[in-house]
Amino acid sequence: MDRLYTPWRFSYVTGTGKDDGCVFCRVLDEADDEQNMVLHRGAHWVVMLNRYPYNNGHLLLVLGRHVPLLSACSPEEIAEMGRLLAVMEQALGECMNPHGFNCGYNGGASAGAGIPEHLHLHLLPRWSGDTNFMTTVGETRILPQTLEQVRDLLGPAVRRLVGEGA
Ligand SMILES: [Zn+2]
Repeated sequence: MDRLYTPWRFSYVTGTGKDDGCVFCRVLDEADDEQNMVLHRGAHWVVMLNRYPYNNGHLLLVLGRHVPLLSACSPEEIAEMGRLLAVMEQALGECMNPHGFNCGYNGGASAGAGIPEHLHLHLLPRWSGDTNFMTTVGETRILPQTLEQVRDLLGPAVRRLVGEGA
């Protein structure tokens, strides 16, 4: 499938600006979605893989502008957030057969956000027994698939479910 790259214009449209030091702003600006593990660009959000996954299939939904909190979002942004979270859940369900899901948002550094200034939500698949010995003791996770494999598995499903074709 050929995809037309649309320059990312959120910061100009909204006037909220962006932060050159922010890893999410950089991903939004860059054209290389494959390299950056971006699965889909919506009107207001980007669906991407977490580079430091808790589990295989750990997805992020990243707002297209540099604001920290859900309460800063427009009604349109909130509406698309819900639609995309449902698509992400469905894609993970189809491709990875998880036993359950965690979905969360860390608002602010003291709530545990790694990048507190730029709003993003986590959606990750869970399997019975995935919290194992290595995780608990060694802080090392054994991930049987590479990020690239997970990207190539989930990307087409997300784009199909969102109506973009695969
Ligand atoms: Zn940012």
